Amino acid sequence: MIQLYIPLNFLGVIYREIKQSLADMERLFGLLDQNREVDDAPDAKPLVTHGAQVHFSHVDFSYEPKRQILFDVDFTIAAGTTTAVVGHSGSGKSTLSRLLYRFYEVGAGAITIDGQDIRAVTQNSLRHAIGIVPQDTVLFNDTIEYNIGYGKPGATKDDIVAAARAASIHDFIASLPDGYATVVGERGLKLSGGEKQRVAIARTLLKNPAILIFDEATSALDSKAEQAIQAQLKEIARNRTTMVIAHRLSTVVEAQQIIVLDHGRIVERGTHQSLLAADGLYAQMWARQQAKGEEEAEVA
Ligand code: ADP
Ligand code: MG
Repeated sequence: MIQLYIPLNFLGVIYREIKQSLADMERLFGLLDQNREVDDAPDAKPLVTHGAQVHFSHVDFSYEPKRQILFDVDFTIAAGTTTAVVGHSGSGKSTLSRLLYRFYEVGAGAITIDGQDIRAVTQNSLRHAIGIVPQDTVLFNDTIEYNIGYGKPGATKDDIVAAARAASIHDFIASLPDGYATVVGERGLKLSGGEKQRVAIARTLLKNPAILIFDEATSALDSKAEQAIQAQLKEIARNRTTMVIAHRLSTVVEAQQIIVLDHGRIVERGTHQSLLAADGLYAQMWARQQAKGEEEAEVA
């Protein structure tokens, strides 16, 4: 729990770190309201989704004035479909998810969800509509029940158990002496990367968001755990507007659309097959990954 006597500039540091990791921000936004860099417009309305088409319209972005990160990024994720974003480390993939969640404002252009500019809607409603399974899930020093349940305020124990079952973590939790009352996190039971990610998936299932952002996990998982998670994510993503930031190209093969970012620009887009046929950056990354073998090969 963050204490109120911590100086504000220190809160600022924490806030920035959290923004960076995209971890557990929903709750912290409530606590750190006064440090928000992005405010609701005075006449902000709740976001209304019907299918949740996401559109990035000619987006430019810089974190710092002198260094532009995104250049004229323009793409649409059709309602209920999956778009994978690939590209080398630092190409701007995670920045796209931060902008969609409105941690930062676009420099030029706009982001809309079902035609509504995200600057014109309340942040509460925006964040309610988006579920994030981050690369590195940070758990609260609290019970497993709490860690799953805060995805949906007012969730019953039955809801939480159902979500845990769907994320294939129920049997593990049930095997612990304290079950759902087990305290996890830094000062509690340490969960493995795969277990933490299942908790995050259960939380997201409970939240049942219209839009899903998945910053794909990397080395935390062995390939068996990875395959199990992939199967679950496919389940969650079904009929949900999904942006997958993909480190392993093997996981993007089935995406309806793949966007290839290079130094902040979209340099290619298409399906796996069409991008292989185009024989550009994606095809190169694919060939390199096949050659190296799936286990260690990552593009980001
Ligand atoms: P990717 O996810 O593709 O690895 P990111 O979107 O995280 O890349 O970062 C894109 C670029 O933006 C990188 O050059 C990174 O150093 C820079 N960057 C990321 N976060 C910040 C920040 N808070 N302030 C300044 N630069 C940043
Ligand atoms: Mg990233």
